[in-house]
Amino acid sequence: MGPKLNVALNRPLNGEFYVSNEPISGIVDLELPKPASIISLSIALRGTSQTYVQITNTDYLTNGAFGTRSSHTLVHQTQTLFPPENIREASSGSKKGFQLSKGHYSYAFEFLMPNQLKCIGDHGRESSGFNKTTPDPRLPPSFNSDVIGEGMVDCENTYYKTGSVTYYMKAALVLGKIGLRLTPGNTIVEVYRALEFMPSPYDNGEHPLITHSDAGPLQKLWSKKDFKVGPKCAAKVEVKSPSLNRVFRLDYLFQPGCNKFDQISVTVNRKPAEMLSIKLLQLKLNLIEIVNYLSQGQVNAMIGTIPLVEINPNFELKICRVRNSQDGSMEWPLDTSQIPELVRYRFNETNMLYRGNRLFSFASCNIKRAFKFCLGLKLDINGSVFETEVLTTICDIGYFSIEDHEELPSYVVSDVPPFYSDRTEVAI
Ligand SMILES: [Zn+2]
Repeated sequence: MGPKLNVALNRPLNGEFYVSNEPISGIVDLELPKPASIISLSIALRGTSQTYVQITNTDYLTNGAFGTRSSHTLVHQTQTLFPPENIREASSGSKKGFQLSKGHYSYAFEFLMPNQLKCIGDHGRESSGFNKTTPDPRLPPSFNSDVIGEGMVDCENTYYKTGSVTYYMKAALVLGKIGLRLTPGNTIVEVYRALEFMPSPYDNGEHPLITHSDAGPLQKLWSKKDFKVGPKCAAKVEVKSPSLNRVFRLDYLFQPGCNKFDQISVTVNRKPAEMLSIKLLQLKLNLIEIVNYLSQGQVNAMIGTIPLVEINPNFELKICRVRNSQDGSMEWPLDTSQIPELVRYRFNETNMLYRGNRLFSFASCNIKRAFKFCLGLKLDINGSVFETEVLTTICDIGYFSIEDHEELPSYVVSDVPPFYSDRTEVAI
């Protein structure tokens, strides 16, 4: 029986994954059942972003489809555990190695995950794919990292899993030649141990760790289709939001003042002949996941839908809140403060997994995962039922919540909760 190697990692502080600036430490155990000649024992921290992209070919001869692979090295750091540095220097180039007697040996190691990507230095800015226009690209989080073998993912697994960001430890034992063995080269024993990594929100002083992102430009989003509600009268759904470009876990999405989905209205292009009775029958909020895999200039895109909210409130949009605009249109605001399920709803409170991954946006050179929200409304307008959807632009989804990274503000007694008036409302 030959030497046995094992890598044991100390658990991350939160029990699940390592974060930026958290030491990744552990022990490499070496079991020698008989004396052995050792050239080196090393441990490496490695991370790769890999994709397999299918290319559909119209050429019959190439049998339909083939693919290309792409691999970017995110991190590769090695520490030599044996022999100790002083001995190593004294005997560089020795092919025989150092004799170790039979027994059990343990070596501790510790790494810190870097912030910068190794591969940018390897291939340069020009070839950094989805990172090309990012000013200071950072290490991506683990994604689809079911590790087999050398940290390679099983590309035959499923179509979705044809891209992965994988971090792992690799211990390598190189044995010296003994006697007149005819085998070419040295015998190498390798062991892998996967780990999960989630970079903390980036803070260099200039970019606040997490900001309450309610200061962006006001976005006006419209439903894809409008519906006739009378002669020459068309209605559509409008969402006004200044902060749907970033959403963190536990953010309120509908609560008045949250600046996300708290300003939803039904807008009619002109004053209808008879007053409209508008009821919200159903509200659905889905998160749309868009994952792009890149390899050699080819991109495969995958789209998924993650249901977040579905309520059937049968809620009447109050006529006293209707607003008239200067262009002659009329607006029926949906007062979300009157629907308790919506007021209470916080984004991703259950910390869900979607296809095995937590919810977060990221980009590596060859993988980009982005999200949009899709708000679906079913309305009853004067007895007719209409269904429509409003799709947002790309929204950056942050895994860490404000509460994870910000001390709760200490309120003084004079603090009063914010009051949200109806602002520009004009009753008719
Ligand atoms: Zn790269």
